[in-house]
Amino acid sequence: MVKVGDMLIGYATDEGVRKRGASGGLVTAVLAAALEKGLVENVVVLKHINEFEAVPIVTDNVEEVLASTGSLHSVPVNLARYAVGRKVAMPAKPCDTRAVIEQAKRGKIDLDTTYIVGLNCGGSMHPVVTKKMLADMYDIDPDDVVGEEIEKGKLIFKTKDGKEKAISIDELEEAGFGRRESCRYCTLKIPVNADLACGNWGVIGDLAGNATFCQVMNDKGVRLLENAIEAGRIEVQPASDKAIGIREKVNGAMEKLGKTWEENVFTEIPDKERMQYYLEQMADCIDCGACKEVCPVCTCGEDSKCTMFHTLVDDYKMSMYHLIRLLHLSDSCIACGQCTDMCPVDIPITMLQNRFSIPAQRKRDYTPGMNVDDTPPYFEVMLK
Ligand SMILES: Cc1cc2nc3c(=O)[nH]c(=O)nc-3n(C[C@H](O)[C@H](O)[C@H](O)COP(=O)(O)OP(=O)(O)OC[C@H]3O[C@@H](n4cnc5c(N)ncnc54)[C@H](O)[C@@H]3O)c2cc1C
Ligand code: SF4
Ligand code: SF4
Ligand code: SF4
Repeated sequence: MVKVGDMLIGYATDEGVRKRGASGGLVTAVLAAALEKGLVENVVVLKHINEFEAVPIVTDNVEEVLASTGSLHSVPVNLARYAVGRKVAMPAKPCDTRAVIEQAKRGKIDLDTTYIVGLNCGGSMHPVVTKKMLADMYDIDPDDVVGEEIEKGKLIFKTKDGKEKAISIDELEEAGFGRRESCRYCTLKIPVNADLACGNWGVIGDLAGNATFCQVMNDKGVRLLENAIEAGRIEVQPASDKAIGIREKVNGAMEKLGKTWEENVFTEIPDKERMQYYLEQMADCIDCGACKEVCPVCTCGEDSKCTMFHTLVDDYKMSMYHLIRLLHLSDSCIACGQCTDMCPVDIPITMLQNRFSIPAQRKRDYTPGMNVDDTPPYFEVMLK
């Protein structure tokens, strides 16, 4: 019997899924069982195109779920919006999970019918940056890459000729490559806000590389695992104290690193220079609105204040659109990095937003995306 709080090590019983899985295929097997046993109507997964490209799909086809194994570190998409209005099970990095919870607060997602299989996350990379990094640092043609892995702080790429090359993530980041900026200062590495928290940290000995460490966070997590065990899709065993200790230690080190990065990224700007700083950062904005479209926390749709008060004759570089978004998202931005990823003129909009959001959220002792019962401090009352 599975209980809330259990720390387990498990893997898929299907040898193919176990072998292809990022670390034993447990996540895929749990998602497939949720679908075939009717726990959910659909599953959200990534359909792989290559190592750097994948499309999120919403499927009721178990075979498509089974084909989605593996972690794509250079596909930094946020999956929350794919759960809107559906009864789904989904894999979710901590920032996907935070966005799902923010959507639930706004009545767009029903958490009772949404099953979140959380994935630990040390960070993801932008595909364009990864391809340049492969050429500059690894001397590898991106088309030759057949697999990637992160082990002992090194990013390893495997190529068609059966060779592999590893470089430490610290070295890559010092050279300006590696994880996206928002991932570097992200400190939620284990998705304790999901129903299950799965990852490879703490998987040791013979099982290293072919099993998943899984923490059961709540009753839905119990249901997901018991369902997969009953379906014969997974096998689990209790994690040893040593395994639990290693996972905690790595997580602690990653949290510490995240805090150091936060200090490096958010350097103080003298009062007198602030306005000029923001104007310069925004100078290239072409007013395309992509940063709103892609934001997994924003639920305003067409009726949004940021676009309603904005006009194309408003040619201030810090437009009403941006000013309203800065304010509106200051309590709810989860620093997922999607807006920066999507900006066609490379404005670091996540960093600019978080110059306001981080202090605003800390001052109010509020962290968005963690608990559906915590109301955002600036939640407005609709006056009719
Ligand atoms: C970007 C990223 C970073 C990670 N970093 C760490 C880490 O530092 N430490 C750690 O312990 N674990 C990390 N993980 C989790 C780990 O890689 C495995 O996903 C986990 O151990 C489960 O393995 P599995 O074999 O059971 O998963 P699988 O059965 O292979 O299933 C993987 C699932 O993840 C989905 N998926 C793949 N790529 C993404 C993506 N980019 N975004 C959202 N969903 C995706 C797939 O659709 C599939 O459903 C990371 C995962 C990702 C995606
Ligand atoms: S923001 Fe955090 S959870 Fe999201 S991809 Fe980056 S490191 Fe992972
Ligand atoms: S404003 Fe940007 S970083 Fe913040 S939640 Fe929206 S997309 Fe993510
Ligand atoms: S995505 Fe970039 S260019 Fe487009 S509106 Fe946002 S900041 Fe401006």
